[in-house]
Amino acid sequence: MSLARLCLFALLLCAAPPAAFAQAGNFELVKLAEGVYLARRTEPPGLTTNANSVFIINDEDVVVVDATLTPGAAREELAALRKLTAKPVRYVINTHWHDDHVMGNIAYRESFPGADFVAHENTREYLPTTGLKNRQMAMSPGGYPGFIKALRQRLEKNESVFGGPLDEKERATLASDIKIGERYMAENPTATVVLPTVTLRERLTLYRGARRIDILYLGRGHTSGDIVVHLPQEGIVVAGDLVIHPVPYVGNPQSHPGDWGETLEKLLALKHTIIVPGHGPALRDDSYVQLMSRLFSSMKRQVAAAAARGETLEQVRKSVDLDEFRKQFAGDSRVRRAVFDSYVLGAGLAAAYADATAKQ
Ligand SMILES: [Zn+2]
Repeated sequence: MSLARLCLFALLLCAAPPAAFAQAGNFELVKLAEGVYLARRTEPPGLTTNANSVFIINDEDVVVVDATLTPGAAREELAALRKLTAKPVRYVINTHWHDDHVMGNIAYRESFPGADFVAHENTREYLPTTGLKNRQMAMSPGGYPGFIKALRQRLEKNESVFGGPLDEKERATLASDIKIGERYMAENPTATVVLPTVTLRERLTLYRGARRIDILYLGRGHTSGDIVVHLPQEGIVVAGDLVIHPVPYVGNPQSHPGDWGETLEKLLALKHTIIVPGHGPALRDDSYVQLMSRLFSSMKRQVAAAAARGETLEQVRKSVDLDEFRKQFAGDSRVRRAVFDSYVLGAGLAAAYADATAKQ
């Protein structure tokens, strides 16, 4: 499977923490504030991925943000939550409709039949339509099964996408990506997809005892239905995949690089000391999100200028220069470079071109 094919498939889908404790399953719990915990995935960043969750423990109940890629992974996280509190889960908020944020919903519904599932109204629309098509494709021979086979071959042949033998991190990432794919195929073909029971368009505030939880739509970015969860009293913004560390995953046609930078500027304007990305560690300064914002602004500006000159997408791929960003996001890491090439230069430029030409 070529890198381009892998990229296409894959989207079918930092500061030190004060206290982190490992759990059964590939995640660790990080306390962000009193009663607020990040279940941070510890799989290495790769071409496929599982997503972070956040537990917000209130006076009487619990609000969960995002539910991981499979029911089993959600059950592992739920077991960790049970050790923190006996209070019931009342709401599960899905930041967007991608499988790695919603497929574990059913685990929460089984344990808490009265729980509500909150998402943007576009997520409610996409889950049974575009989401269904993506899941069918992920489960088809060209989806995860082909992806797993290609990665296994690369491991066996000891072959990097950049040529030559694999380095240690590429090897670990391939092994992790295979495990994620196998788990998806083992659990998701029979898993029930739980749709949102509460939707919002612009904002919704939950008052849970002394806790205030603002759920906000700030504009398009990773999808057209990204919501962020803002805890104004604690200064925490749970960003979903509007923020992905260490390299953003951009999908085509689902992402909107033309709007993403402005949406991130609105996110940065919220009162905060911590930003929790959909993937990666809790961020305690703004530099990474500012870098993402500059990347998308530059993409937008360059792609719009190229489209105005009448360039085709193939010409745009040659004329747009994001090398400086590639260095800043990926450094010397081959894994990060492969992810940047796949998601930013591959799918990202196509999505940016679609945004630019749609506005003409
Ligand atoms: Zn994600």
